[in-house]
Amino acid sequence: MPTGMPRGLSSWVAALGCACQSHAVGDRSQSKSPSSPPSSSGVASATAARGPTFGSNLDPPRARSLRRELVDRIASTRQVGNEAVLQAMRDVPRHLFANAVFLDLAYADRPLPIGFGQTISQPTIVAIMTDALELSGNERVLEIGTGSGYQAAVLSLVSKEVYSIEVIPDLGHEAAERLRRLGYANVRVRVGDGYTGWPQMAPFDRIIVTAAPPSVPQTLLSELSDDGILVAPIGREHGEQTLYRFRKRGGSVEQEDLGSVRFVPMVAGD
Ligand code: SAH
Repeated sequence: MPTGMPRGLSSWVAALGCACQSHAVGDRSQSKSPSSPPSSSGVASATAARGPTFGSNLDPPRARSLRRELVDRIASTRQVGNEAVLQAMRDVPRHLFANAVFLDLAYADRPLPIGFGQTISQPTIVAIMTDALELSGNERVLEIGTGSGYQAAVLSLVSKEVYSIEVIPDLGHEAAERLRRLGYANVRVRVGDGYTGWPQMAPFDRIIVTAAPPSVPQTLLSELSDDGILVAPIGREHGEQTLYRFRKRGGSVEQEDLGSVRFVPMVAGD
């Protein structure tokens, strides 16, 4: 169980207003954002790098090539249909989201520890969950479980706005500061209990839960817009957990089984 559980905590932090290079939001298939480096041909490509760009001090060539290999391996499994999701994972330097980590560990297809007994999910799972949201680039997305901010950074490149809630204050504040510093300007982080959602910002087109609740939180379903999609691992901490996609349609909710998974529990922050 994480320590430092907030009780009725209302403090929240925004990752807006970054001094770094920011990026345009919207459909990835549109032309390159102003922050993208000019290509040698000067021709915009559909999968051109988007979002913040990093110098080789922060994102050395070895990190880039390990990341490319990792995403190529994920792509080769054909579990991810949305090419923009794969491109976002090529663009976001995962090693900058966990402290003092060896590059090999950051780019292995494994969960990555981030302190407080929490981890960034395995890259394949991040890819599958992001893909399952069926994002076109124009959605407002709510994430439960900010953790390091990695998943939020990936989401920020394939959606319009990302709202993310983290229950452990130190993790939430650190993630907000990291996202701000790295230039993911369309992400807002709030420290609080994800079970209560973010009513002031609802409804959301998409909701992604990155810790496992025992059953789907009704408050989150109520904050989902009609035709919205919620993706969440559901199940007990040491028991069977299943990744589900919930689709809201005209007042009813369809549920789809996306396979077995293992996540840290979504804790009650009463
Ligand atoms: N998405 C994160 C990793 C998530 S790990 C990333 O990319 O780094 C799961 C996270 O969910 C942990 O940080 C944990 O503290 C958080 N969490 C657990 N219960 C929560 C709750 N009720 N509300 C918000 N966050 C919660």
